[in-house]
Amino acid sequence: MKYTFDMPPIVYTAPLDPSKKFILGTQFVFMPYSEEAWKEVRAEWDAIQNAKLIAPEVEDEEFDVPSNSDPSKTYKVVKCSDGRWTCECAGYGYRRFCSHIEKCGGKKPS
Ligand SMILES: [Zn+2]
Repeated sequence: MKYTFDMPPIVYTAPLDPSKKFILGTQFVFMPYSEEAWKEVRAEWDAIQNAKLIAPEVEDEEFDVPSNSDPSKTYKVVKCSDGRWTCECAGYGYRRFCSHIEKCGGKKPS
């Protein structure tokens, strides 16, 4: 994929010089306008839309894991839809991994 945008690309005409046109997305793909470039950008946008339709929606999964040192305390571990894990404990803050994530089946990131 050559371009990234989270909104449909549009053709922008320079206010002071109507002969100048550019193609824009929200990530400011800013390029001189041509039929060819516009077609390419549109195709890219359509591909992104199709990919979104095909990709299954995965919900975040949450777990409450008791603290090792204080059983009355629990930490919220979240398995994100993109496969990453987070935990609200201090250990996660330092190492991006902790025993709570491990207990939920998470693997240490390599
Ligand atoms: Zn933790």
